[in-house]
Amino acid sequence: MKYDYLVVGAGLFGATFAYEMSKNGKKCLVIDRRNHIGGNIYCENINGINVHKYGAHIFHTSNKEVWDYINQFTEFNNFINSPVARYKSKIYNLPFNMNTFVQVWPDVLTPNDAKKKINEQIASLAIKEPKNLEEQALSLVGKDIYEMFIKGYTEKQWGKTCQELPSFIIKRIPVRYTFNNNYFNDIFQGIPIGGYNKIIEKMLEKCDVLLNVDYNKEKDKYKNLAKKTLYTGMIDEYFDYSLGKLDYRSLKFEHEIHKDIDNYQGNAVVNYTESSVPYTRIIEHKFFENNTCKGTLITKEFPIKYEQQKEAYYPINDDKNNDLFKRYQKLADQENCVIFGGRLGEYKYYNMDEIVKKALELSSVELNV
Ligand code: UDP
Repeated sequence: MKYDYLVVGAGLFGATFAYEMSKNGKKCLVIDRRNHIGGNIYCENINGINVHKYGAHIFHTSNKEVWDYINQFTEFNNFINSPVARYKSKIYNLPFNMNTFVQVWPDVLTPNDAKKKINEQIASLAIKEPKNLEEQALSLVGKDIYEMFIKGYTEKQWGKTCQELPSFIIKRIPVRYTFNNNYFNDIFQGIPIGGYNKIIEKMLEKCDVLLNVDYNKEKDKYKNLAKKTLYTGMIDEYFDYSLGKLDYRSLKFEHEIHKDIDNYQGNAVVNYTESSVPYTRIIEHKFFENNTCKGTLITKEFPIKYEQQKEAYYPINDDKNNDLFKRYQKLADQENCVIFGGRLGEYKYYNMDEIVKKALELSSVELNV
């Protein structure tokens, strides 16, 4: 066999694993069905602006090891994500913090005022154990914030009601009683200067890479090229949907180039939290890198139903899908010499830092076998 590892998917998980293995003398072939490497962190330079083609990616972590690791490939800037929400023609700060609270309630001035207001709203609902996203959100921030910033956004994002969704999704967003608009609680945060592609290019330097190859259509041909396979695609597709289809959420991106506007919205991310606006957010990419070029490029992000041939961006980790995934996992365990990893291979809503950590753990296991 020509290769030690076949890596299916040139995204962050596959590339990190391939880097570690090739660094340690293993021969790797990395294949991807897209015509470029990088998976969903792929950037395209358009008119001097690095465009996050598959949605905005902000690297953040509290894991020093992961931060140092990713920084070896490129330099990161000091970008701090501070999105704003637009609701009924007004702008509010995010995540939910003192700035938001004073903007929503004119009689709130101090953390105590805000706590009192939110606690009153929570008490009137009498929720004991939150059973779903709606109850979780209501018991964290009360009715007003839920209705203005969470309900509409979440229901269009996921195409399901907040009562049908698992509560963990909303726990990703901090609630703070300080005037702090940093969307993340993590210690380290930034955007790679010049975009994400450099990272993946460096990671794959010592590997053979084949693009426009759909592994699931030519499994036999590729499987036999390597001793072991790391598969980072959709697990249900790998098994030809034999146990049924897992649900995913897809996205549609509408990019707009504005040659005559240098500053479209004054911020990298503006969330549109009303249900009547079909997109969830507008990204103005130049602000990720403090780019002062002329003109700008914005992207409207529309959540859409996932169907075959579309990209699966988010797993929908409700009980029904998690149970089906567990059954696929049993099939995966029986699969000889194939490892499943990443957001789609493990059907888990991972952030980038978790992906790097998981790929590093996997590579050290593989190197010690
Ligand atoms: N969310 C919300 N309002 C917002 C932003 C986020 O209700 O203005 C909820 C929504 O349910 C979303 C979840 O918080 O799916 C996680 O948001 P995050 O920004 O972490 O999503 P991602 O960037 O991964 O799409």
